[in-house]
Amino acid sequence: MFENSLEFAKKCDALDALSSFRNKFHLPKNTNGEAFVYLCGNSLGLQPKTTSSYLEQELKDWATLGVEGHTDAAHPWLPYHEFLTENMAKIVGAKPSEVVVMNGLTTNLHLMMVSFYRPTSTKYKIIIESDAFPSDKYAVESQLKFHGHNSEDALILWKPRKGEELCRFEDLEKIMEEQGDHVALLMIGSTNYYSGQAFPLKKITDLGHRYGCMVGFDLAHGAGNIQPNLHETGADFAVWCTYKYLNSGPGSLGGCFVHERHADDKEMNRFAGWWGHNKETRFNMRHEFDALIGAEGWQLSNPPILSMAAIRASLDIFSDAGFENIRKKSVKLTGFLEYLIDELKDHRIRIITPRNPQERGCQLSIQVKSADKTLHTKLTEAGVISDWREPDVVRVAPAPLYNSFEDMYYFAERLKKILN
Ligand SMILES: *Cc1c(COP(=O)(O)O)cnc(C)c1O
Repeated sequence: MFENSLEFAKKCDALDALSSFRNKFHLPKNTNGEAFVYLCGNSLGLQPKTTSSYLEQELKDWATLGVEGHTDAAHPWLPYHEFLTENMAKIVGAKPSEVVVMNGLTTNLHLMMVSFYRPTSTKYKIIIESDAFPSDKYAVESQLKFHGHNSEDALILWKPRKGEELCRFEDLEKIMEEQGDHVALLMIGSTNYYSGQAFPLKKITDLGHRYGCMVGFDLAHGAGNIQPNLHETGADFAVWCTYKYLNSGPGSLGGCFVHERHADDKEMNRFAGWWGHNKETRFNMRHEFDALIGAEGWQLSNPPILSMAAIRASLDIFSDAGFENIRKKSVKLTGFLEYLIDELKDHRIRIITPRNPQERGCQLSIQVKSADKTLHTKLTEAGVISDWREPDVVRVAPAPLYNSFEDMYYFAERLKKILN
């Protein structure tokens, strides 16, 4: 299916229906003006060329309208978050009422746990995957502590078996068989940031619900990468950020999903703010809190419009390209990268990411035996922006909107040169 040559890579680019999208992004360049092979979209996505005009529109409306911009701006600020909802809902496979853009990812995770982690004296444990992203682990541990529990007793890690890097679903089933009656919440990161493993979200949700647990996902590495089909999974909640695969700029706002079965549960515990209050009466200012129906009811503050403008710019590109097309290209692009790495036939190299495209997103985590961080430095010097994770893993994440098949070829060629 693939061939190991620059000509073949060029042919794939020529046949690629999405190849013109690369030109819609600013590609970082070295001091000689040569574009880097940028494989770090899993950490910070690149800037769309349209982002600045979306931001300038808001700056201009603010300059000319002042406070009137809330209602009179080209895109009025009062309902601005609503302009993002439909496109964002498509990207995560949810109904629009189930999705809202707000806050940072970790803030949203805490807000969701306030509502969906409701421990009792016997059912209070939380399961996370063992190599969870540190912020997720800190958030979960601090929630446990807040409720008077400690991690030693109440935090269960879903671990890979000894000598393996990936988590097996049957091991999660086993944990639930043994301790499910004491588990209140499963909070799993998908796709895993380190291994690139995409977990079976629906199976995990069904398993959790069978034992009466709440189930939530962190899609920081999933949103804009895989199609999580959140509504169909039946998960209770999910959170994600928009600065990785969703190209919305450093520290940009996060996304939040609340399944529609919880949409009008106004009695549910939640930390509230005025932006989650009924829009009709929000500015009467003297009413009791009246939560909006759906995910919007979890909003706290009036949101930063400049950040939302950047998200809108990016989502418009996703909408133009169509997420199914993006994912289709992604599977081929990462498949080509995998093929080229295998072609190096270097016994020191092992791809720890699952081989099955259904079980991964675009990222490959490449373990290089007895390598250290100088490998990463050399890759950077050779014009490749990648990511290093101790002790010996290079993570590369070809983003289908702006990475080319040629990029894959150059990466493999430069890696080979460095390893020799
Ligand atoms: C990137 C990432 C975060 C970062 O959290 P912020 O609140 O956006 O700083 C958290 N969790 C996971 C799994 C991530 O990949």
